[in-house]
Amino acid sequence: MLLFSHFFAIAKFVYLCGEERQHRVIPFVDIHTHLPLAEETIGLTSHRLGIEPTAGIGADSSVGIHPWDVEKVGAVEPLLRQMRSIPCRAIGEAGLDKACDADFSRQMEFFERQVVIAAERNIPLIIHCVRAQSEILAILRHYPNLKAVIFHGFIGSPEQATELTSRGYHISFGFGALRSPKTVNALRGCSGSALFLESDTADGSVSTLYEQVAEVRKVDVATLKREIYDNYIRIFG
Ligand SMILES: [Zn+2]
Repeated sequence: MLLFSHFFAIAKFVYLCGEERQHRVIPFVDIHTHLPLAEETIGLTSHRLGIEPTAGIGADSSVGIHPWDVEKVGAVEPLLRQMRSIPCRAIGEAGLDKACDADFSRQMEFFERQVVIAAERNIPLIIHCVRAQSEILAILRHYPNLKAVIFHGFIGSPEQATELTSRGYHISFGFGALRSPKTVNALRGCSGSALFLESDTADGSVSTLYEQVAEVRKVDVATLKREIYDNYIRIFG
Protein backbone atom coordinates (compact mmCIF):
# COMPACT_ATOMS: atom_id res chain seq x y z
CA MET A 1 0.00 0.00 0.00
CA LEU A 2 1.37 3.43 -0.90
CA LEU A 3 1.12 5.65 2.15
CA PHE A 4 0.86 9.40 2.05
CA SER A 5 4.33 9.65 3.65
CA HIS A 6 5.76 7.44 0.89
CA PHE A 7 4.31 9.75 -1.69
CA PHE A 8 6.10 12.73 -0.11
CA ALA A 9 9.36 10.82 0.12
CA ILE A 10 9.18 9.93 -3.58
CA ALA A 11 8.21 13.49 -4.56
CA LYS A 12 11.12 14.88 -2.55
CA PHE A 13 13.52 12.40 -4.21
CA VAL A 14 12.37 13.39 -7.71
CA TYR A 15 12.70 17.07 -6.81
CA LEU A 16 16.23 16.61 -5.45
CA CYS A 17 17.29 14.68 -8.58
CA GLY A 18 16.13 17.64 -10.69
CA GLU A 19 18.05 20.04 -8.45
CA GLU A 20 21.11 17.83 -8.71
CA ARG A 21 20.92 17.87 -12.51
CA GLN A 22 20.62 21.62 -12.61
CA HIS A 23 23.55 22.28 -10.32
CA ARG A 24 25.88 19.53 -11.48
CA VAL A 25 29.09 21.19 -12.57
CA ILE A 26 29.64 20.88 -16.30
CA PRO A 27 33.39 20.59 -16.92
CA PHE A 28 35.36 22.47 -19.52
CA VAL A 29 36.39 20.30 -22.46
CA ASP A 30 39.90 20.77 -23.85
CA ILE A 31 39.86 18.51 -26.88
CA HIS A 32 43.53 18.93 -27.77
CA THR A 33 46.35 19.88 -25.45
CA HIS A 34 50.03 18.97 -25.15
CA LEU A 35 49.96 19.76 -21.43
CA PRO A 36 48.24 17.99 -18.52
CA LEU A 37 44.53 18.81 -18.36
CA ALA A 38 43.63 21.78 -16.16
CA GLU A 39 41.28 21.55 -13.15
CA GLU A 40 37.58 21.01 -13.86
CA THR A 41 38.57 20.05 -17.39
CA ILE A 42 38.14 16.86 -19.36
CA GLY A 43 39.55 16.18 -22.80
CA LEU A 44 42.54 14.71 -24.58
CA THR A 45 46.26 15.08 -24.02
CA SER A 46 48.03 14.64 -27.33
CA HIS A 47 51.16 12.46 -27.67
CA ARG A 48 53.53 12.54 -30.63
CA LEU A 49 54.33 8.89 -31.21
CA GLY A 50 57.98 8.18 -32.05
CA ILE A 51 59.03 11.52 -30.58
CA GLU A 52 57.66 11.56 -27.03
CA PRO A 53 57.88 8.75 -24.45
CA THR A 54 54.82 6.49 -24.32
CA ALA A 55 54.78 6.39 -20.49
CA GLY A 56 51.67 8.12 -19.21
CA ILE A 57 49.58 7.44 -22.30
CA GLY A 58 46.15 6.36 -21.14
CA ALA A 59 42.44 6.92 -21.14
CA ASP A 60 42.66 10.68 -21.64
CA SER A 61 45.18 10.53 -24.47
CA SER A 62 45.24 10.78 -28.20
CA VAL A 63 48.21 9.24 -29.98
CA GLY A 64 49.43 10.03 -33.45
CA ILE A 65 52.40 10.56 -35.71
CA HIS A 66 52.49 14.31 -36.35
CA PRO A 67 53.10 15.36 -39.97
CA TRP A 68 56.10 17.40 -38.76
CA ASP A 69 57.69 14.17 -37.50
CA VAL A 70 57.36 11.83 -40.47
CA GLU A 71 61.04 12.08 -41.41
CA LYS A 72 62.26 11.84 -37.81
CA VAL A 73 60.48 8.75 -36.55
CA GLY A 74 62.11 6.09 -38.74
CA ALA A 75 60.16 3.08 -39.99
CA VAL A 76 56.40 3.41 -39.91
CA GLU A 77 55.45 -0.25 -39.29
CA PRO A 78 56.61 -0.62 -35.65
CA LEU A 79 54.86 2.64 -34.75
CA LEU A 80 51.64 1.57 -36.43
CA ARG A 81 51.78 -1.76 -34.60
CA GLN A 82 52.06 0.17 -31.35
CA MET A 83 49.22 2.48 -32.37
CA ARG A 84 46.89 -0.46 -33.00
CA SER A 85 46.94 -1.54 -29.36
CA ILE A 86 47.99 1.43 -27.25
CA PRO A 87 45.26 2.39 -24.72
CA CYS A 88 44.17 5.78 -26.07
CA ARG A 89 40.83 7.41 -26.81
CA ALA A 90 41.63 8.85 -30.21
CA ILE A 91 44.17 8.68 -33.04
CA GLY A 92 46.00 11.94 -33.74
CA GLU A 93 47.10 14.44 -34.21
CA ALA A 94 47.71 13.14 -37.68
CA GLY A 95 47.35 15.02 -40.91
CA LEU A 96 49.00 17.08 -43.62
CA ASP A 97 50.94 20.34 -43.35
CA LYS A 98 52.06 22.20 -46.47
CA ALA A 99 53.84 24.83 -44.39
CA CYS A 100 56.41 22.41 -42.95
CA ASP A 101 59.50 20.92 -44.60
CA ALA A 102 58.59 17.24 -44.26
CA ASP A 103 58.19 15.40 -47.56
CA PHE A 104 54.53 15.69 -48.58
CA SER A 105 54.14 12.24 -50.11
CA ARG A 106 55.52 10.71 -46.92
CA GLN A 107 53.04 12.82 -44.94
CA MET A 108 50.24 11.45 -47.15
CA GLU A 109 51.34 7.87 -46.55
CA PHE A 110 51.62 8.29 -42.76
CA PHE A 111 48.29 10.09 -42.60
CA GLU A 112 46.30 7.50 -44.51
CA ARG A 113 47.84 4.62 -42.53
CA GLN A 114 46.64 6.32 -39.34
CA VAL A 115 43.16 6.92 -40.75
CA VAL A 116 42.98 3.17 -41.35
CA ILE A 117 43.83 2.51 -37.68
CA ALA A 118 41.19 4.98 -36.46
CA ALA A 119 38.67 3.13 -38.65
CA GLU A 120 39.81 -0.33 -37.45
CA ARG A 121 39.73 0.69 -33.79
CA ASN A 122 36.51 2.68 -34.25
CA ILE A 123 37.87 5.63 -32.29
CA PRO A 124 37.88 9.34 -33.24
CA LEU A 125 40.55 10.91 -35.41
CA ILE A 126 42.15 14.27 -34.51
CA ILE A 127 43.44 16.07 -37.58
CA HIS A 128 46.24 18.60 -38.04
CA CYS A 129 45.58 20.42 -41.30
CA VAL A 130 47.63 23.30 -42.69
CA ARG A 131 46.82 24.43 -46.24
CA ALA A 132 45.84 20.88 -47.16
CA GLN A 133 42.11 20.66 -46.57
CA SER A 134 41.26 19.39 -50.05
CA GLU A 135 43.95 16.67 -49.90
CA ILE A 136 42.72 15.56 -46.47
CA LEU A 137 39.10 15.49 -47.59
CA ALA A 138 40.10 13.44 -50.65
CA ILE A 139 41.62 10.79 -48.37
CA LEU A 140 38.78 10.85 -45.82
CA ARG A 141 36.27 10.30 -48.64
CA HIS A 142 37.49 6.67 -48.76
CA TYR A 143 36.64 6.17 -45.06
CA PRO A 144 32.99 7.20 -44.64
CA ASN A 145 32.45 5.20 -41.44
CA LEU A 146 34.98 6.83 -39.14
CA LYS A 147 33.59 7.22 -35.62
CA ALA A 148 34.31 10.95 -35.52
CA VAL A 149 36.70 13.41 -37.15
CA ILE A 150 37.89 16.55 -35.36
CA PHE A 151 39.91 19.19 -37.23
CA HIS A 152 42.01 20.71 -34.48
CA GLY A 153 43.41 24.25 -34.39
CA PHE A 154 41.17 25.31 -37.26
CA ILE A 155 42.21 28.46 -39.10
CA GLY A 156 40.10 29.27 -42.13
CA SER A 157 37.08 30.91 -43.66
CA PRO A 158 33.40 30.24 -42.88
CA GLU A 159 33.21 28.46 -46.27
CA GLN A 160 36.07 26.13 -45.37
CA ALA A 161 34.42 25.44 -42.00
CA THR A 162 31.12 24.62 -43.70
CA GLU A 163 32.93 22.27 -46.08
CA LEU A 164 33.92 20.26 -42.99
CA THR A 165 30.76 20.46 -40.91
CA SER A 166 28.53 19.60 -43.89
CA ARG A 167 30.36 16.26 -43.98
CA GLY A 168 29.62 15.69 -40.29
CA TYR A 169 33.14 16.56 -39.13
CA HIS A 170 33.88 18.59 -36.00
CA ILE A 171 36.02 21.71 -35.72
CA SER A 172 38.16 22.69 -32.76
CA PHE A 173 39.21 26.32 -32.25
CA GLY A 174 42.09 27.60 -30.12
CA PHE A 175 43.47 31.03 -29.26
CA GLY A 176 44.96 31.32 -32.76
CA ALA A 177 41.44 31.44 -34.18
CA LEU A 178 40.72 34.63 -32.26
CA ARG A 179 43.65 36.40 -33.95
CA SER A 180 42.37 35.62 -37.46
CA PRO A 181 39.34 37.71 -38.57
CA LYS A 182 38.06 35.15 -41.13
CA THR A 183 38.36 32.40 -38.51
CA VAL A 184 36.44 34.51 -35.99
CA ASN A 185 33.65 34.63 -38.59
CA ALA A 186 33.87 30.86 -38.99
CA LEU A 187 33.71 30.45 -35.21
CA ARG A 188 30.69 32.75 -34.97
CA GLY A 189 28.82 30.76 -37.63
CA CYS A 190 29.87 27.25 -36.61
CA SER A 191 27.01 25.00 -35.54
CA GLY A 192 27.12 24.30 -31.79
CA SER A 193 26.88 20.58 -32.45
CA ALA A 194 30.16 20.63 -34.44
CA LEU A 195 32.17 22.76 -32.03
CA PHE A 196 35.16 22.02 -29.78
CA LEU A 197 37.75 24.24 -28.09
CA GLU A 198 41.39 23.53 -27.29
CA SER A 199 44.39 25.01 -25.54
CA ASP A 200 46.92 23.04 -27.70
CA THR A 201 50.36 24.32 -26.69
CA ALA A 202 48.55 26.85 -24.49
CA ASP A 203 48.94 30.55 -24.84
CA GLY A 204 46.21 30.84 -22.22
CA SER A 205 43.91 28.77 -20.03
CA VAL A 206 40.96 26.90 -21.43
CA SER A 207 38.59 28.84 -19.14
CA THR A 208 39.80 32.14 -20.65
CA LEU A 209 39.27 30.68 -24.12
CA TYR A 210 35.68 29.75 -23.22
CA GLU A 211 35.03 33.33 -22.03
CA GLN A 212 36.40 34.84 -25.24
CA VAL A 213 34.57 32.39 -27.50
CA ALA A 214 31.30 32.92 -25.59
CA GLU A 215 31.65 36.63 -26.35
CA VAL A 216 32.23 35.98 -30.06
CA ARG A 217 29.24 33.63 -30.26
CA LYS A 218 27.06 35.90 -28.08
CA VAL A 219 26.15 33.15 -25.63
CA ASP A 220 26.92 32.77 -21.94
CA VAL A 221 29.75 30.51 -20.81
CA ALA A 222 27.30 28.04 -19.22
CA THR A 223 25.51 27.53 -22.57
CA LEU A 224 28.84 27.10 -24.38
CA LYS A 225 30.02 24.57 -21.78
CA ARG A 226 26.81 22.58 -22.16
CA GLU A 227 27.04 22.52 -25.99
CA ILE A 228 30.65 21.36 -26.04
CA TYR A 229 30.20 18.89 -23.20
CA ASP A 230 27.26 17.33 -25.09
CA ASN A 231 29.48 16.96 -28.18
CA TYR A 232 32.17 15.30 -26.09
CA ILE A 233 29.76 12.83 -24.51
CA ARG A 234 28.16 12.02 -27.86
CA ILE A 235 31.54 11.09 -29.33
CA PHE A 236 33.48 9.71 -26.39
CA GLY A 237 30.59 8.41 -24.22
ZN1 LIG B 1 48.82 20.08 -31.23
